[in-house]
Amino acid sequence: MTTYRQIPVQQLNREQASSELAALATEIKLHNQQYHQLDAPLISDQEYDSLIRRNQAIEQLYPDLKRIDSPSKQIGYSPANTFEKVIHRQAMLSLDNAFNPDEVQEFLNRLYRFLGMSLSTNIDFIAEPKIDGLSINLTYTNGQLTQATTRGDGMVGENVTNNARTISNIPAALHGIFPRLVEVRGEIYIAKSHFIQLNAQREKQGDTLFANPRNAAAGSLRQLDPAITASRPLQFFAYGLGAIDTNGWTTPKTHQQWLIQLQEWGFIVNANYRLCHTLQEMIDFHQYMEKSRDQLDYDIDGVVYKVNDLSLQQRLGFISRAPRWAVAHKFSAEQATTTLKDITIQVGRTGILTPVAELEPVTVGGVVVSRATLHNEDEINRKDIRIGDKVLVRRAGDVIPQIMHVIPSTRSATSKPFVFPQKCPVCGHPAKRVDGLVAWRCTGGITCAAQAVERLRHFVSRDAFDITGLGIRHLEEFYRDGFVKTPADIFRLHQHQDNLVNRVGWGKLSVQNLLSAIEQRRHISFERFIYSLGIPQIGQVSAQIMAHYYQELPRFLHSMRQAHAKESSAYQELDDIEGIGQAMADDIVMTLNDPEQIAVIEDLMREITVQPYKNLQISDNHALYGKIVAFTGTLQHMSRHEAKAMAEKFGAKVANNISKKTDLLICGEDAGSKETQAKLLGIKIIDEKTWLDLCQQI
Ligand SMILES: [Zn+2]
Repeated sequence: MTTYRQIPVQQLNREQASSELAALATEIKLHNQQYHQLDAPLISDQEYDSLIRRNQAIEQLYPDLKRIDSPSKQIGYSPANTFEKVIHRQAMLSLDNAFNPDEVQEFLNRLYRFLGMSLSTNIDFIAEPKIDGLSINLTYTNGQLTQATTRGDGMVGENVTNNARTISNIPAALHGIFPRLVEVRGEIYIAKSHFIQLNAQREKQGDTLFANPRNAAAGSLRQLDPAITASRPLQFFAYGLGAIDTNGWTTPKTHQQWLIQLQEWGFIVNANYRLCHTLQEMIDFHQYMEKSRDQLDYDIDGVVYKVNDLSLQQRLGFISRAPRWAVAHKFSAEQATTTLKDITIQVGRTGILTPVAELEPVTVGGVVVSRATLHNEDEINRKDIRIGDKVLVRRAGDVIPQIMHVIPSTRSATSKPFVFPQKCPVCGHPAKRVDGLVAWRCTGGITCAAQAVERLRHFVSRDAFDITGLGIRHLEEFYRDGFVKTPADIFRLHQHQDNLVNRVGWGKLSVQNLLSAIEQRRHISFERFIYSLGIPQIGQVSAQIMAHYYQELPRFLHSMRQAHAKESSAYQELDDIEGIGQAMADDIVMTLNDPEQIAVIEDLMREITVQPYKNLQISDNHALYGKIVAFTGTLQHMSRHEAKAMAEKFGAKVANNISKKTDLLICGEDAGSKETQAKLLGIKIIDEKTWLDLCQQI
């Protein structure tokens, strides 16, 4: 379909106009779905508004070309199929928009003209912040909440009564005196602060993040399971009325009186509304709200002006999809298009590499934005973000600016996909993509300045050196002041005793306690020592396995250095240890062959003593003691796991594979190639019965 987007509306011929209207209908429908049903807008609100306006302008020029599916006949989205559809008693119309004071003046002109009044006649307006949330209609029958419906397409909405009931500031019953039936309208929203918490929680759980508080509110309300809605921090501001059956109840005469009435019934009405007598007062209020929007804990995207006098509202009535008595004066968008100049990499406390978009500075919602998070490599690939691209940036409240999408048509022919760096930009160590994670991680460990404090925290933690009284805040303080840069520095902290005693919040006693806690840890078990190094993937269990296998630190370090060559027997030996996979082996070998890490460990060795591995249950008289054994085939009387534990209990080491170093192969039923190999190498082979006999010996 050809589009004539570049041609000004006034210059379109009939044929072009018809084609353009068709293109706009399809495009706007897509954006409606993206925005309302998928909560994933593709374009900024301003760009969307400009499409709507262009569509309207063309329809005005060629009224007979107006399509049956014209976007101007629709307000929002069609309801999803999953909720019961409800026809509104009174249509939930949207508002016309004004983007500058001139357009507000035009709105006033139209209004005065319609009423046949001169512009000098005073008409009061209520100016209210336009909450960027989700409109809802609440029906109260005899004072009880009987139904809640979303706006839907303005005529038909979705029944979300059960979900709305979970929102604490939607009253289940009205206070005081009320009409027989009344519909209260307002906005459901999520506070910015709650939105940040919600997204942080979702990130932790690996869920997709909401783009902004509005999408979060929409996604949370339109849940088929009300329990999920209940778990979300939704709130409600009431701002207006729908159908009403007074049954003798006296209705308010002005919009302001209605706002007071809504509060008396138990609703929360946004307190930031103002009664305005002139256009200037309206514009002043708009400017004031635009300046203060960052201080509010909820998103607003403009100010709504409503005629205060309800009898005038009645006279003014509606034009096709909006009331004549109100207009939304929008703020400048919180989204903007700019150029992605570069992608840099930030290194977090745990060594995770996070890509950051360096942007051509652009004003987004009144704030200059020059950087935005790109989350991870997958995100960059998924959105196909490339250096040099034009991108749409969105900022919502205090949230870190995000890149919504690339504008593909502006991409240069020479642009290339971004290649994620293989090195840490802080310390230069190789980065590795950890199995099962989307993130890349720096392998620099303790030598990487970005990770040092976190590594030190691990070093002193309970299962490592277990130094009480040395928390993360102290470590950060000591690191910043240069007292503790590496683990060895902890054992030299006593040299700064005088300085420590003089610190705020540090008494002589607490310093003494800390220093003595450190002194007590100058002797450390081999397994704790391995664990404390914070080698990726090496937890307590694998540290224990290695300590058991290598028995003492010098032998371990020596063997790891030899294992640097993958074809070495030392590497093979490490790889063969039961419970140590190849990825783990690679990480250990890489860490312990890194010159900087070696320097850190050697420095530490000057301060502490690492005790050889102790296993009190082992008798060195046992036939299995010190032997390297392997298993093959199926054992009948114990599981493979149990057999290995048994072998280790007697001081044997269990290998996965057969090598020249293997002393003994235990063959169960259906033994495989290991048996053949062992025969070739002349290794002693025993059956399960002999194995069980061996296990009986003490
Ligand atoms: Zn690093």
